[in-house]
Formats: sequence, structure tokens, C-alpha cells
Amino acid sequence: MSQELIKCPCCEKMVPANDVELTYRLPDDIACMDEEERASTCKYTNDYVVCDDEYFYLRCILPLPVHDTGREYCLGVWVQISPNSFNKVWELWDDEEQANEPPMRGLLANNVHLSTGAESAEVMIQLIGPTSRPVAIVKDEACSLYKEQQSGITIHRASEYSDLCR
Ligand SMILES: [Zn+2]
Repeated sequence: MSQELIKCPCCEKMVPANDVELTYRLPDDIACMDEEERASTCKYTNDYVVCDDEYFYLRCILPLPVHDTGREYCLGVWVQISPNSFNKVWELWDDEEQANEPPMRGLLANNVHLSTGAESAEVMIQLIGPTSRPVAIVKDEACSLYKEQQSGITIHRASEYSDLCR
């Protein structure tokens, strides 16, 4: 597969234009369980995790605009939401109109690498549609992802996130 390379404006290194995006497979609290514990306490798919019928997580994307490219670099993260919010999401799972639902509060459930203050940072999530993952918007200004989402990131920074996947 040939890959389009672009020159990083800051260091002139050639970096992939459409790079693999950093994605977390599970919420951190669930990922650190062993296989057996997870199987006995959690119901999970690639889209949601319910742990002990008490902790509810939703897989979301956290888009970071990339300077000068018109693209977004989307981190794949988990967000913990309240039981009520989860019930709402469940109800609307296949609903074409789910984007009309107002944003819901949540807490980031991954301590995103290379960021600071990500663990349990406050976010709002917006439902998009039945076949799209919800979008997470960082509200906690103490989390470094807040500024990266508001102001965007460089291509260089995007490639640093991607380097974690290699
Ligand atoms: Zn650079």
C-alpha cells in the first residue's frame, strides 16, 4: 500500500498524511483487569462497557483539528457516563434522529498518552448517528487535550500520537 507523505512544517520530517489514529481498546479501569475478572464483571462490545451494572462507558471519538490540513485527528477514547445517560443512549441506539439529543456530560476513561490531566477530565458527548461513534468535546481546561481540541495540533504532534500505535 502506498502512503501519501507530507513534509512536517516544523522539522521537515516526512510524515504520513493519513496516519493511523491512536485508539484505546477499553477504558483504563477495565483494561487493567485480568481476562477472568473482566468476564465476570463486565458486559462489553467495541462500543460500550457495562461493569457491575454500575459503571457505564461509551466508546467515542475525540477530534483534534490538524493545522494546515483541514483534517481532524480523531483519538479513539472511552467516556464514562451516568446510568441515566446510558439508558438514554441505549434507547436511541438505532434512532436516526439521535443527533437531536442534547450533549451529555461524561468523564474521560483513558489517561491519554502524551497528554496531562486526561484521566477523569470532564467532557460533553454528542450523539451523531446510528453508525457513527459519539463525539467527545473536552470541557476541563486543566486537561491538555482541551487546548489541543480548541486550537488544533500540528502535523508533528499528530504523528507523535500515531507513533504510540506502532
Ligand atoms: Zn515537525
